[in-house]
Amino acid sequence: MNKMIYLDHAATTKTLPEVAEAMAPYQDIYYGNPSTIYEFGEKSRDAIERARGMIAGTIHARPEEIFFTSGGTESDNWALKEAVHLYERTHGGRKGHILTTPVEHHAILNSCEELKQMGCGATYLDVDESGRVILSDIENRMEENTCLVSVMYANNEIGTIEPVDELGRMAKKHKLIFHTDAVQAYGHLPIHVQRENIDMLSASAHKFGGPKGVGFLYIRSEINLPAFIHGGGQENSMRAGTENVPGIVGMGKAAELAHRRMKQERRRVKYLRDYLAYRILQEIPDVRMTGSRKYRLANNASFCFKGITGEAAAILLDTQGICVSSGSACSTGSIEDSHVLKATGIGSEWAQGALRFTLGAENTKEEMAYTVERVKMVVADMRGHA
Ligand code: PLP
Repeated sequence: MNKMIYLDHAATTKTLPEVAEAMAPYQDIYYGNPSTIYEFGEKSRDAIERARGMIAGTIHARPEEIFFTSGGTESDNWALKEAVHLYERTHGGRKGHILTTPVEHHAILNSCEELKQMGCGATYLDVDESGRVILSDIENRMEENTCLVSVMYANNEIGTIEPVDELGRMAKKHKLIFHTDAVQAYGHLPIHVQRENIDMLSASAHKFGGPKGVGFLYIRSEINLPAFIHGGGQENSMRAGTENVPGIVGMGKAAELAHRRMKQERRRVKYLRDYLAYRILQEIPDVRMTGSRKYRLANNASFCFKGITGEAAAILLDTQGICVSSGSACSTGSIEDSHVLKATGIGSEWAQGALRFTLGAENTKEEMAYTVERVKMVVADMRGHA
């Protein structure tokens, strides 16, 4: 096959042509600063508010509850750091405590570690072998100063969808703020912040056909979360700095398209994913699928192959024109076992051979068939040379 086969959509997606087209005029035609008082600046301001309205509608929030950020990492940092700050402010300076999971993205895990350095507490809840949080653990691990539960909507490595509905209900019952890192879920799964009792939600445009470097944090208006970046009055004085107007416009367009196409796209991608997974599991010995079979993102197929290293396999597949990831894209370069696989109880012998295939809009069945053949070849070669 001459063309590159891109199977790493959990790392990033292509900016959709309709999105690039919607962004273009905000680079060189309507380039006014949205904070200015003249009509030219108002064009940028209006475009930002249209995007805000569109995004709010997709999760059943109010426009004033959507705050634009530079992406998922910033949204996660804001949610966690300011939730404990809020607790401290309202509890006479007492440090807060967070309940989270060991399978979160490093944007959450490293924020928790930083907060621990500052005297706050963080407890990592147990997960089962599919990476789903064990709900009963929440009540057992709650402390007097627990102020936040942060559990991802869906996992970036193994695709497991967490029991968000139940988590929201439980957090509400105990009067805890519930944050979810929905970077892998937003634009791929329907989300209803009211029904699911979500108080804060992080998302990132480049994971659903939008541009890189822009995202949002939903903050329920009843939560008086402190500002994160201080400066001018942008984003209602909550996140200062001149807005990334083209990026925000692009994210709004990508959100619209992702939600309009969601049902059909999920069905299409799931069919391809199931075909790929079935053939890999049938035709290659000593392979296991990771993550939940039942509660799983439609585009994720992740496996562990015994007797190989995922990093080396990904490099060999690259020479065959196939882009895949050997775990979390954000931690490529590290040779340690994936923290997600470790938390689900997978030993090093299997975890070393982790490979993640994440499908997207342009993949075809022909590409899946070609990929299976190349994976079979690479795995057999590596095992032969082990
Ligand atoms: N959270 C999850 C679950 C992710 O998968 C990622 C990126 O891979 C992030 C957060 C970080 O998002 P961003 O790349 O927009 O900073």
